[in-house]
Amino acid sequence: MSDTTPVQHFIRTIIDGDLASGKHISVATRFPPEPNGYLHVGHAKSICLNFGLAQDYGGTCNLRFDDTNPEKESEEYALAIQEDVRWLGFAWHGQVRWASDYFQQLYEYAEELIRQGKAFVCDLNAEGMREYRGTLKEPGRNSPYRDRSVEENLDLFRRMKAGEFADGSKTLRAKIDMASPNINMRDPVIYRIKRAHHIRTGDQWCIYPMYDYTHCISDALECITHSLCTLEFEDHRPLYDWVLDQLPVPSHPQQIEFSRLELHNTITSKRKLLQLVNQGLVSGWDDPRMPTIHGMRRRGYTPEGIREFARRIGISKSVNIVEMAVLEGAIREDLEAKVPRVMAVVDPIKVVLTNYQEGVTASRSAGFHPNHPEFGEREVRIGPEIWIEREDFSEAPPAGWQRLTLGGEVRLRYSYVIKCDEAVKDAAGNVVELRCSIDHDTLGKNPVGRKVKGVIHWVSARHAQVAEIRLYDRLFTDPEPDGHKDHDFLEFLNRESLSVVQGWVEPAVNDAAPETRYQFERIGYFCADRFDHLPGERLVFNRTVTLKDSSGIKA
Ligand code: ATP
Ligand code: MG
Repeated sequence: MSDTTPVQHFIRTIIDGDLASGKHISVATRFPPEPNGYLHVGHAKSICLNFGLAQDYGGTCNLRFDDTNPEKESEEYALAIQEDVRWLGFAWHGQVRWASDYFQQLYEYAEELIRQGKAFVCDLNAEGMREYRGTLKEPGRNSPYRDRSVEENLDLFRRMKAGEFADGSKTLRAKIDMASPNINMRDPVIYRIKRAHHIRTGDQWCIYPMYDYTHCISDALECITHSLCTLEFEDHRPLYDWVLDQLPVPSHPQQIEFSRLELHNTITSKRKLLQLVNQGLVSGWDDPRMPTIHGMRRRGYTPEGIREFARRIGISKSVNIVEMAVLEGAIREDLEAKVPRVMAVVDPIKVVLTNYQEGVTASRSAGFHPNHPEFGEREVRIGPEIWIEREDFSEAPPAGWQRLTLGGEVRLRYSYVIKCDEAVKDAAGNVVELRCSIDHDTLGKNPVGRKVKGVIHWVSARHAQVAEIRLYDRLFTDPEPDGHKDHDFLEFLNRESLSVVQGWVEPAVNDAAPETRYQFERIGYFCADRFDHLPGERLVFNRTVTLKDSSGIKA
C-alpha cells in the first residue's frame, strides 16, 4: 500500500551531498511548465519530483510559467496548470512566477553580454543560419556579422527592441564557439523579433528571449538550488552554465537531468494531445481517456494514487517506459481502501422472483466497506423484480461455473439464495428474462444440506436508479503509438476506447456529489462525472479502473 517513505535516487544523493558539504543550507526547486497545453502524466512525475523534494527537505518549490512563446500560450492553460498542481496536493512557494516577470532584467543582461563582446546582432535569416551552423560531423562557420563592434550591436539591439526591424530579420546571438562539437554552443540565438501579443506583457515587447537563455537566468534570479529537467536538455547544460558564468546573477543553480516518463498505450506530448483535441478525437483535454491530469481527475484517479505511482516508477537517467498497469495498480490500491462499495448492474437482464412475498421477503442492511464500519451502512432493498448482470447467467456454462444457470442456485449478495427455474426467450432465441425462486430460509444464513458457492451482485428494479455508465479502455491499441517511423500515432487510436451503457445503481448513490467515487462490487471503481452528473437528477458514472488488470488490449 501507499507509503510515504521517500525512495532514494541519484538526485537525492546529490542533494544530500550538497547539504552535507555546506554547498547549500536548503533546497529550492521549481516546476517550469510552458502554458501551451494541459499537463499530462509525465508532468505529474516532474511535479511530484520537484514539489516532493521541497517537502522532504523542508525547502521550497516555485511554480514558474515559461512563457516565452506568446503565440502558443494562453491564460486557460495557465489556470488549468495551477489547478492541477493544487489538485495533486502541492503548494508552490509564494506567488506564481512568470519568466515574463524577468523580461526587463533579461534584456539588461543581454546588453551586458553585448558590452562584454559576448553577444552580437546577426542578420542571417533562418536559412542562412542553418548553412553556417554546420553538422554533427562538421564545425560551423562564423556568421559574417559576428565581428560587429559593441557600439553597433548595442545600437541594433536597441532598435530591435524599438520595433525598427521586421520579424525574423535579425537576432541576437551569444558569441561562443562555432566549432564546438555541441551544436547548442554554436552561437545560439538568444533573442528573436516576433510581433505577437503576449498573455502577460501584451504588446510591450516585440523581441522575445529564447528558452535556453531565459530558463537559466530565471532559475538564478529565484535562487533555485537544483534545476531538474528531462534528459533532452543534457546537451543544453553547457549553455545553461555559460550564460550564468558571464553574468552578475545572484546564484548559479545546478541543472540535473532525469529521464522522462513514457506510458504504454498513450502519448505524453502536449503537441499530440492537442491534435487529439483539435481533431475532435476526444471530447477535450479533460476527456477521461486522456493522460492529462484533468483527464485522470475526471476519470476518478486520485491525487494520492498518482503520487504513489510517481513514487513507484522512481527517478533515474535510464529509460522510463512504464506499463499502464503500473498506474492503474496504484490507483486501484488507493481506491480499494478508501471508497464505499455499492452494487450496480451495467449490462442488465431482468429476474422475476416468482415467490416474492410482500411483508415476508425481507431486505438486509449492509456496510459500505468490509474493513471500515465507520463508512456506515444502508438497507439493500429487495423487490419482486431485480436486475442482474447478463454475463452472470449462462444456459450452457463452462465447467466450474459458479454463477446462475438453469436449475442452478446462486446467492444474491447481502440477500437470499435464488434458484433459476426458467429462461424466457424472445422470437430470436435471446434470453430476455429469468424466472427464479427465493429460498426464504437463507437470509443471513447458509442453506441447509447443500453448498451454494456463487455470489452475484444485483439491484432491485423497484428501487434502483438508472445511470449512464461510461466504460473506458486504453486510448491506443499499440503500446508505443508514437514509436513507429512509418506509422502516424493516430493509426493506433482505439476506436473502442469508450462505450456508454445504461445501467442501474443502488438508490444509496442517488445523491452522490460529482467526483464521488465508489466500488461497484465485482465490476470496478467508478466516479460520478465531474460535469455531467447531476445529483438526484442525472446519474453519470465513469469507470475509473476495473477490479483486476483486464484491459481488452494486450500491451
Ligand atoms: P511536452 O513535450 O509534452 O510538450 P514539455 O517538456 O515541452 O512537454 P513543459 O511545459 O516544458 O513541457 O514541461 C514542464 C516540465 O515538465 C519540464 O521540466 C519537463 O522536463 C517536465 N516534463 C515534461 N514531460 C515530461 C515527462 N514525460 N516526464 C517527466 N517530466 C516531464
Ligand atoms: Mg518544454
